[in-house]
Amino acid sequence: MELKYTRKNVYKEADGNELERIYEFAEGYKKFLDNSKTERDASLQAKLLAEQNGFKPFSFSEKLKAGDKRYFLNRDKNIFLISVGTEDVAKDGVRIMVAHVDSPRLDLKPNPMFEDCGLCYLKTHYYGGIKKYQWTALPLALHGVVMLRGGERREICVGEDENDPIFYITDLLPHLGGEQAQKTLGKAIDAESLNAVIGGLPAVDDEEEKECVKTAVLKLLNKKYGITEVDFQCSELCFVPAGKARDVGFDGALISAYGHDDKVCAYPEMKAIFDYNSPHTVLAVFADKEEVGSDGTTGMQSKVISDVIETIASSFGANPIEVRYNSKCISADVTAGYDPAYSSVYEKRNTTFISCGAAISKYTGARGKSSSNDASAEYMGFIRDILDDNGVFWQTGELGAVDAGGGGTVAKYIANLGIDTVDVGVPVLSMHAPYELISKADVYSLYKACLAFIK
Ligand code: MN
Ligand code: MN
Repeated sequence: MELKYTRKNVYKEADGNELERIYEFAEGYKKFLDNSKTERDASLQAKLLAEQNGFKPFSFSEKLKAGDKRYFLNRDKNIFLISVGTEDVAKDGVRIMVAHVDSPRLDLKPNPMFEDCGLCYLKTHYYGGIKKYQWTALPLALHGVVMLRGGERREICVGEDENDPIFYITDLLPHLGGEQAQKTLGKAIDAESLNAVIGGLPAVDDEEEKECVKTAVLKLLNKKYGITEVDFQCSELCFVPAGKARDVGFDGALISAYGHDDKVCAYPEMKAIFDYNSPHTVLAVFADKEEVGSDGTTGMQSKVISDVIETIASSFGANPIEVRYNSKCISADVTAGYDPAYSSVYEKRNTTFISCGAAISKYTGARGKSSSNDASAEYMGFIRDILDDNGVFWQTGELGAVDAGGGGTVAKYIANLGIDTVDVGVPVLSMHAPYELISKADVYSLYKACLAFIK
């Protein structure tokens, strides 16, 4: 019996085989990330991988039976993976794992296009919590869909292939940035100046000779996608950092990428439902809109998850209330790993550390745990036992020191349905930056935690 608790570094404890598994798992994760920049991209990836793993489309009117594997792609932006087990769903409930697949980014405004001094731009409205100064002077890619008049849909993805052009938001040169440097970080870059350069070649045959670069870009867009300027009003397009996930460090122990929050949790929960044929009925959810409050048809405040659980319950003639009451949930989301460069905002005894395993947050919230799901001692005990029994490295921590700030996850929306829920995720450094940092040991630990949860 160990009398004192000490946090363990996964890399220190792992033998050669485990280290190999950790690095191998990371390769699959990076590939998934590179194809999952937006919630649409990630949900589509999950659908393709689900089909490869024998999952079939779900219908609210079908009667499910043990062994069925289903996916419900909700409006292309949110997906539910369902694996029906042999256990009695009324008594055993559903094992639910939820992660979100939307990440902070720059959405286009409805009327985004303008020309100024020979350059054509797209205006943006940022989505989620960003530090605006981080989004200038870096390569951007454009992702999303545009609806043409009459219902035809055009998918756009420019900037990811190395032969593609990228897009660019300017910043002030330091030589003229004296006044800017006096401003606070939050005020230095104005949200209305986050306009991305998308062209600079004038159309020679433009009679008006006004906005001739804009005319030329519209001609290109029309030729390639059939779109006209008004079609932007019926689109969902966004700029995200261009490029792929990369190993970090001489030893490659870490990964830097856009959108670890929260694909670093979505991938392990998806892999777990694919890799293990659980006796429990398992539901893995990729949620949308977490970064802006989880509202709408594809966010976790929507009734859709209840509807899916009700459909499962009614398939077996079970009372959906009883099924919900006996269900258990892991809200898989990232937390702030301890960063020695910014030690003052953390409380070292109660924070999570990079490479020390799956990160459990009993509660989140701010200003005295406000607006938090605070997991019960009993449920924490249940989670501790299954993780320990399955050799999973885990740690607990808070998101920063008390009153240093705070944040929330989707945990409370699941818990509000009467389902025991706790946050189990991965510690991240530089969270919400264009390129975030995680440890391969932690994403693998979360995968093992998800397997333990559905075992
Ligand atoms: Mn998150
Ligand atoms: Mn976030």
